[in-house]
Amino acid sequence: MKSIITGKTTVLGIIGSPLGHSLSPLMHNAAIEALGLDYVYVPFPVAPDRLGEVVLGLKHAGVAGFNVTIPHKAAIIPFLDELTPEAELAGAVNTVKKEGDLLLGDNTDGAGLLVSLKDDLSFAPGGAKILVLGAGGAARGAVAALCSAGAALVTIANRDRDRADELRGYFARLFPAINLRSACLDVLTSAEQLQQFDLILNATSVGMKNTSFDGFSRASLAGVGACFYDMVYVPSQTPFLEMAASNGLRAANGLGMLAAQGEIAFSLWTGCSPPPGLMKHSLLAVVKGN
Ligand code: NAP
Repeated sequence: MKSIITGKTTVLGIIGSPLGHSLSPLMHNAAIEALGLDYVYVPFPVAPDRLGEVVLGLKHAGVAGFNVTIPHKAAIIPFLDELTPEAELAGAVNTVKKEGDLLLGDNTDGAGLLVSLKDDLSFAPGGAKILVLGAGGAARGAVAALCSAGAALVTIANRDRDRADELRGYFARLFPAINLRSACLDVLTSAEQLQQFDLILNATSVGMKNTSFDGFSRASLAGVGACFYDMVYVPSQTPFLEMAASNGLRAANGLGMLAAQGEIAFSLWTGCSPPPGLMKHSLLAVVKGN
């Protein structure tokens, strides 16, 4: 963090509720310090019923940009002036930049996921068959990014099957050339079904607090050759990833995605790239052992 804050210091931040667990201030302030920039990144806890007032306040208080996290990623859209195509497609905003008098909503989660898949698993979605678990905001952003990157087949599986169907319908209209399917989470109990996928991506909150998917066992992985990616990063080795790794499959958690989306947002706001690997290392130092 910048040690001396003056009247010229530019403020960046994050809005969400709750924010106590957020690692974004840590990694952004590490980058600010490493580059010697006159910026500071601060948390703004914002209750859902105060979102509109706060966004208007930030717009007029000289804040250069801010991140948006749970539960505001979709709800913030009506309070912004413009959206990037990525935010429009995902129906969610995780990064806001002040441009002149306007607030521009962007989504760097999708790009961050693609960077992490490449760096952590050497995986490229072009032509791939992918199973996305979940139908919430994170799954939506992931499906948008994977379809934009040319996946051949994307199956969306969710506990609430109706939400998976709805998401499948939305993306099928936008990407008619991609084979989009929906399923319930039972898919995780069938080795025969899992064998078709190149990537199995968890975009649910299952895994936080060490929770597991019902019925997902060693038997489910017989003959499976997919890579496994878990957007959850605390604990760093979820039961989902542990199962994959113990079967000799390549597996990575969502820490790389968190760092990569942060690097992209930081560059948008400041015009400077954080030192390579610095954000990820600052995160690893904190989550190590969790
Ligand atoms: P969300 O919109 O609240 O969606 C939650 C999803 O998890 C839904 O699909 C929900 O299924 C499913 N789910 C919750 N509890 C479940 C259970 N016990 N069994 C089966 N499914 C369950 O949340 P989100 O924003 O999509 O976030 C999802 C996860 O991604 C969170 O852990 C978040 O921290 C992580 N994430 C990580 C990054 C990163 O940078 N690594 C970025 C974004 C999000 P139903 O629809 O059936 O309720």
